[in-house]
Amino acid sequence: GDCVMDYADILIKNAIIITMDKNKRVIDDGAIAIVDDKIVAVDKTSRVEQKYKSEKVICGKGRIVLPGFINTHDHLFQTLLRSMGDDMNLNDWWPNTVGPITPYLTKKDMYYAALTGCIELIRSGVTANLDYQYANPRPLIAEGVLEAFLQIGIRGVLGRGYSDVDMFDFGLPDDIIESTEQALSDTETLIKRWHGKANGRIKIWLAPGAPFANSDENLAKTREFANKYGIGITMHIQEARAEVDTWKEHFGTTPVQYYAKKVPELFGPDFISVHSVWLEPEDIKIFAKTGVTVSHNTNSNMYLSSGVAPVPEMLKQGIPVSLGVDGAASNNSKDFFEMLKNTVLMHKVHTLNPTILTSVDVLEMATMGGARSLMMEKEIGSLEVGKKADLSIFDYTMANMVPLNRPMSQIVYCGKAANIETVIIDGRIIMENRVIKTVNEEEVLRKTQKITEDIHERAGRGEYRRELFFK
Ligand SMILES: [Zn+2]
Repeated sequence: GDCVMDYADILIKNAIIITMDKNKRVIDDGAIAIVDDKIVAVDKTSRVEQKYKSEKVICGKGRIVLPGFINTHDHLFQTLLRSMGDDMNLNDWWPNTVGPITPYLTKKDMYYAALTGCIELIRSGVTANLDYQYANPRPLIAEGVLEAFLQIGIRGVLGRGYSDVDMFDFGLPDDIIESTEQALSDTETLIKRWHGKANGRIKIWLAPGAPFANSDENLAKTREFANKYGIGITMHIQEARAEVDTWKEHFGTTPVQYYAKKVPELFGPDFISVHSVWLEPEDIKIFAKTGVTVSHNTNSNMYLSSGVAPVPEMLKQGIPVSLGVDGAASNNSKDFFEMLKNTVLMHKVHTLNPTILTSVDVLEMATMGGARSLMMEKEIGSLEVGKKADLSIFDYTMANMVPLNRPMSQIVYCGKAANIETVIIDGRIIMENRVIKTVNEEEVLRKTQKITEDIHERAGRGEYRRELFFK
């Protein structure tokens, strides 16, 4: 009967809940009950309390519960390169950051870089991360990232990166170029060992580098492989204007329009196009027609002066857009709140139109947009019964949030990573009262500092790094 109580593993009560469900429902004095990895109730506290009790009750007074943010583009190894490429042209950026370091990367470097990057993400409310791992100087080095995902408890997708050509001699180092066979066989091993591990929390995807770095045959095989294993594909597409201009000189059209003819099977709803700053109207139409989703990397696009992606037009045409922090060599922070605010402001000033993009649009990109990009919209991205318990608890009693008038808007315009107090991923408390529970944060950060010094010495970049310290 009605008075029988069910037990929840975790009960969060008396909070404001931003659900991001299809009605964008905000519940005042709301509660969430979690059993195992799932949400079993989201409603007014009085109603949830009639049904559920728990030994683990989190008081939500003064708190907002948010769906976990979903980061759809990252290069975690670049955490070791923070600020090494500041204030440079793209031509100088590569040879001063990624280029000289990648050949020396070890699995241990990957592990600590990934842990530090994930700690920063979790601290800003991110619960799922797609790491685009293109630095593979030795086989299976990506397992350093996967071990970090496993250990820290984030929902992690590892996009195994690869390139088989340097079409226009952009100077890709030899260790980045590998045969399609090598890349796919490495990926196959990663799939066998990792795909679906930890209650489905860890996944493997394919990540061909960019149009100028992957041949048509390579991309056709990529699609075949993705279909065989039912996994997604992510690729940098039309990031910089110069790259698109060069492509057009050679092929007479943009990469997107070229592929629509030459490798038409490449695009689909399981394809995340990253950056996509320089899209022509016809490119946008192709994305809309094929169901491609876009990862918009606001801060990276501003940092490298790549340009402003036509996001409002993409949204108008129904293309799901998600957000990516990109690697720390081109952002350099992984604070998701910084990106929420910069995204909405960048499009307003670019179009001289303050109504072009709203705070709610940006929250949608950070949550359900990300879920669609990862093909997980039925499992994550909103706080609804039956979905995974991936969420953060945000303290709004701090000076940057008081007084609270409009929760959804203030999350975007006033929120900071420092407001995030507790993070739950797959029903497990990963951070509680600002303490990461799954790794020894202090030790991880100390080791990351040390391995950064070591790798710069090994790569013959120690002196350069020491000089930069005082500049
Ligand atoms: Zn990237």
